[in-house]
Amino acid sequence: MNFRYPVNYIAITTYFGSEHKGIDLGWSDIYGMNQRVYAAADGIITKVKKDVKGNDTSYRTYGNFIEIEHSGGYKTFYAHLKYDSIKLNVGDKVVMGEEIALMGDTGYAFGNHLHYEISKDNKEIDPTLYTYVYSDQIVTNNPEGKVGLLYYEKDNLDINELKNKVKLLEEENNRLRNELNNYLFKFDAFVTSFYKVKLYEGEEMIIKKRIID
Ligand SMILES: [Zn+2]
Repeated sequence: MNFRYPVNYIAITTYFGSEHKGIDLGWSDIYGMNQRVYAAADGIITKVKKDVKGNDTSYRTYGNFIEIEHSGGYKTFYAHLKYDSIKLNVGDKVVMGEEIALMGDTGYAFGNHLHYEISKDNKEIDPTLYTYVYSDQIVTNNPEGKVGLLYYEKDNLDINELKNKVKLLEEENNRLRNELNNYLFKFDAFVTSFYKVKLYEGEEMIIKKRIID
């Protein structure tokens, strides 16, 4: 199962580990503090919390969140979402890349970020092993924020396919040009000479006066 990163600017600020069952994705100057959050794959919304107005660093809480159930026993989870940015409800269907909320800092958060989890059969797994960067997404320049990122190959295949098509067209073009050269016939003849020449349509024969020096 393929997942797409749920934000279009990808910078991982905290990785998956025994104490952190997901990854944190930071905000960017490009998209602002409240960058859009998208569904990582097609699915149905199974949990929503949207009434948390602020952040609270006194105890661990996800703030506003969405859980989406996908096929194959997979679920994705998006937390600390901005208050009043969730328009979806439990039971709503979403498709990969559909906007579901805005990044925020509700709940236990020390700044705007998206806490993103994937689970398989209700056990959290490392999202970086299942989530892909698509060609229309931007990755941070910071080397620490892009460790282990997977890049969706289908996009590269598309580019290779396109390159192949261009190559085939160029070959066809060359073939046609050569064929055309076979038909092009230009013959400079001299008036005093005797020639037996067969001309095809479009060909020309130029007869010049011989210059005697
Ligand atoms: Zn987190």
